[in-house]
Amino acid sequence: MAEERRFSEGAASPEGGRSKKFYIAVDLEGVACVIGTNGQGLRNSPDYPFACRQATKETKAAVDGLFAAGADEIIVWDCHGTGWNLDYEMLDPRVKIAMGAGSGKRFPGLDRSFAGILFIGYHAFDAPGAVLSHVYSSAGFSGMFLNGKPAGELQIDAAVAGKNDVPVLFVSSDDICVSQAKASFPDARFVVTKTSLAWNSCVSRHPDAVCEEIRRKSEEIGKDPRGNVYRLEAPFRLDVRFKRMEGAQHSPLTDRSGRPFERTDPYVLSGELDDIETLFRYI
Ligand SMILES: [Zn+2]
Repeated sequence: MAEERRFSEGAASPEGGRSKKFYIAVDLEGVACVIGTNGQGLRNSPDYPFACRQATKETKAAVDGLFAAGADEIIVWDCHGTGWNLDYEMLDPRVKIAMGAGSGKRFPGLDRSFAGILFIGYHAFDAPGAVLSHVYSSAGFSGMFLNGKPAGELQIDAAVAGKNDVPVLFVSSDDICVSQAKASFPDARFVVTKTSLAWNSCVSRHPDAVCEEIRRKSEEIGKDPRGNVYRLEAPFRLDVRFKRMEGAQHSPLTDRSGRPFERTDPYVLSGELDDIETLFRYI
């Protein structure tokens, strides 16, 4: 039942050496100088165009650092909202870009041959004082728990990658998200983009200083890709806490036996699953 973590040297390449293939998953909320506005997430915030620009620059920094270290393949996955946020023309032409929504697949194009995942712009799961903290939908949910422990998009997405034995190598985000990530992937590398004060408030580092550090750490990663595979052993327990009682009432979540999740609280549904990707049929 317990999640398993283990040190990984990175996937082996067909030639027997280390793989030089990297996967960069890019969200928007965790990048430098990005906050929400009262009562809203990022999509309708005046900060959204800046967030797209800065996420592009932080991604470019990671791509440039990895290629400088000899990477031979990089997939950039634009995964916020509609999956169409970044300025792709600013990225090195050697990258491939996974984008859009509707396939129901996390990490399009990922397989066991990749050396690891770099997470850019992800955000904390619900926590006091954490900028834009939520899990997948701030309107729909107020928390998710794997085997009783709070989990965010970082942990759940890492568990999807863990099905392919692909480790987490890097996380850049606000200080609260980074501390959550350190508890889950202690051997990865990290960059703190800003100090969170509230959903809509932070003290950020300068955007260019963040990019410079991401580039430097990514070059280190390209040369020495260390991190942790985040694996969920089947069956595991998932608790979903909805924001509104109606959400729990109408959710079609079913467990590993096809039975509806149990209503363990007016706002909470609980059940056992074998595969974490099942969750994405419902959210
Ligand atoms: Zn997002």
